[in-house]
Amino acid sequence: MLDFQPNSEAFKGKTILVTGAGDGIGKEAAKQYAQYGANVILLGRTVKKLEATYDECVKNSHAEMAIVPLDMEGATVKHYQDMATTIESQFGKLDGLLHNASLLGQLQPFGQISPEEYQQVMQVNVNATFYMTQAMLPVLKKAPHASVIFTTSTVGNKGRAYWGTYAISKFATEGMMQCLADEYSNTHLRFNCINPGGTRTNMRAKAFPAENPDNLKTPAQIMPAYLYLMDDASINTTGETLICQPK
Ligand code: NAP
Repeated sequence: MLDFQPNSEAFKGKTILVTGAGDGIGKEAAKQYAQYGANVILLGRTVKKLEATYDECVKNSHAEMAIVPLDMEGATVKHYQDMATTIESQFGKLDGLLHNASLLGQLQPFGQISPEEYQQVMQVNVNATFYMTQAMLPVLKKAPHASVIFTTSTVGNKGRAYWGTYAISKFATEGMMQCLADEYSNTHLRFNCINPGGTRTNMRAKAFPAENPDNLKTPAQIMPAYLYLMDDASINTTGETLICQPK
């Protein structure tokens, strides 16, 4: 699956929602889902960036793209419920949901993490993901084989000094995925995680400012796992964490 390539129109007729679609890994995933024929719903907080992703998506696709400007830090349950209603009326079903948007927060000693910082990171990375998933379940159930992908990190199953809030949020993300996968086993819904590994994005540069980005894979280079888990080739895969860059 780490060299997976879908058929050219593999996602034709499918609708896929990507969070954090304006930049980094989410932007690349949105472009590739569009290229393989999906209608892609681009969710993020910076409209200009979403518009740039939109323009790139429509270059290689005749499918329908939509922009949802939403700051997941302030969004409420009602926002996600309204989104689900709109998706159902516009597209009828949701075939894929890529939970990609996240905040890194500050890397700092545990004792110095402020309650505000902790709440902000947990709100975006965990709570918003929970509310969105819950709201989308009915519209995901309308798809013949729906795939929900969560994004974890190497610190999502082994804690690391100074990575407190982010690492805790990724442990919670893996836990959420595992609970859902177990609860929906033997249904047409699947839930998995992807751990992209060190990838050339703004978030990585913030975490490792002294690193040479040229030594890192680009988002485009780690896409096979993202394509595989959205493709019907993975309909029997659930409860797994795919590691894009195994050591
Ligand atoms: P990125 O370049 O920082 O992109 C993150 C995206 O999430 C941005 O488009 C950002 O919007 C959006 N976002 C952040 N807060 C948001 C909010 N409150 N509401 C809506 N959208 C929000 O990060 P990335 O490196 O592509 O990371 C993508 C995923 O991979 C994350 O889940 C990250 O934890 C995970 N990951 C990355 C690496 C890596 O090496 N890059 C490694 C392991 C895991 P703006 O464009 O407005 O900022």
